[in-house]
Amino acid sequence: MLRRPSITTRTVIFVTIVCLGLVAIDGWNSWQSRQLHLRQMSVATSNLAHAMAQQADDQIRLADTVLVGLVERIESDGTGPAEVARLRDFLAVRVAQLPQLDGLHIYDEAGNWVANSRQVWPQNLNNADREYFQFHRASTSRGSHIGVPVKSRTNGRLLVPISRRINHADGSFAGVALATIRIDFFGKFFDSLDIGQAGALGLIREDGTMITRRPYSPSVVGRDMRGSELFQAYRSQGPVGTAYIRSAQDGVLRLNSFRRLPNYPLFVAASLSKEEILAGWWRDTLWHSGGVVLLVLVVAAVGWRLVKQFELQIQTEAELRRARDALETLNQTLNTLAMEDGLTGLANRRKFDVTLDTEFSRAVREASTLALIMIDVDCFKQYNDIYGHAAGDECLQKIGRTVAALASRRPGDLAARYGGEELAVLLPHTDVQGAVGLAERIRSAVRDLKIAHAGAANGFVTLSAGVEALRPSVSSGQSKELIEAADKALYQAKTLGRDRVCAAAHPSAS
Ligand code: GH3
Ligand code: MG
Ligand code: MG
Repeated sequence: MLRRPSITTRTVIFVTIVCLGLVAIDGWNSWQSRQLHLRQMSVATSNLAHAMAQQADDQIRLADTVLVGLVERIESDGTGPAEVARLRDFLAVRVAQLPQLDGLHIYDEAGNWVANSRQVWPQNLNNADREYFQFHRASTSRGSHIGVPVKSRTNGRLLVPISRRINHADGSFAGVALATIRIDFFGKFFDSLDIGQAGALGLIREDGTMITRRPYSPSVVGRDMRGSELFQAYRSQGPVGTAYIRSAQDGVLRLNSFRRLPNYPLFVAASLSKEEILAGWWRDTLWHSGGVVLLVLVVAAVGWRLVKQFELQIQTEAELRRARDALETLNQTLNTLAMEDGLTGLANRRKFDVTLDTEFSRAVREASTLALIMIDVDCFKQYNDIYGHAAGDECLQKIGRTVAALASRRPGDLAARYGGEELAVLLPHTDVQGAVGLAERIRSAVRDLKIAHAGAANGFVTLSAGVEALRPSVSSGQSKELIEAADKALYQAKTLGRDRVCAAAHPSAS
């Protein structure tokens, strides 16, 4: 069977549930807030990538638009000396208008420099070895081409080449029109964006060639990114995506958002350090976790005190119960002692008086008879004189036991030590015959004890008894009269020679 747990156990369970509940709620809230933080940051990096892609696309398109016009002009006007002179001015004006442009160049079908936005340039240069030149010579495509980054042969700057093919009238290869965008132009825009301490931004060709990156170093330009996780993620997720990637270079885990440029085969990547994204969240979490820990400690301390108090209360209650039980036992003992005669173990005089009054009243109420036997040991003074007081006491004890045994047959009967060697037996609902009968039984039982008494007539201890029984009424008699009558009968028994029973009216001898 299951026992109901104690209040202490229930308190401990309750406090534990409250504490765990607090921790669980706070943990759940923190987790939710973390997820929200990450989602918001994912949106933020995605927006960043969007802005970067748009900016790069716009800049390239501006340059490309110039190239479209340039190609058309050369294809219609040709590259005669007069045209080239005019062309040179046109190119210089365009470059001055577009700050992202480093230069505009025209090459013939052999890669020789035909015209240039610069006023002077080294003679006999040939660009037939450049990747973009070879691309256009091999491909009849009329679209623009974003080449791999190059280092300028004239000023040493790192540049992104944007080029278009120039055709002869018959469609054969006539050369290349080239616009070069300064890589540091993209870098400047990257620097204006807030990406924290460990964030990174990149502009990458779709074939995996890095154009530029923040944090920047000249060595990153032109780096092959095909092996990187970022490039793999872009290839597998398509033009727009997000991925958590741990950097192979600095070991930092970053949230990366990448996006393809709307019109050109390039993509941008914006990445923020996860640690930095969650820094604010960590701060918040530490603060309210600290608060929750404090709260849990307070609740636990209060619970602990409560449990201690309960334990104390339970202990005090148990002690009180024990003390009360002991007191009750003591009370009963005292009560018994107060009503008992120490020598014979019979009821004492006080008990006798109280019982007599009670039984007398009851007899009046019930109109029943009440009998009293008064007993006195014969020649007891002599017994004491002959055998000593101690032997006298012992003799009284034996007589007491005998009387008690005979006079306790019915619950209402009471045998008491009336005083000295005098005993009294109170018998409710008993008439004179009944009482005399009992008195006789007592008398012969004591005689049968055969306690030697050298001073007695027959050589043994005997006793005399006086009996009275009456049916009291409200108007007649008092308990005192019952005693007096029995006493008188006793006196008569003594007078008649002892060792006998006398009833108040009709004395009888054995
Ligand atoms: P009687 O036959 O006329 O009654 O003669 P008695 O000697 O018994 O006379 P009485 O009743 O006057 O004497 C009572 C004696 O009982 C007096 C006392 O020495 C003795 N006695 C009374 N109480 C005790 C008691 O508690 N112990 C002892 N050992 N003796 C007691
Ligand atoms: Mg006496
Ligand atoms: Mg006597």
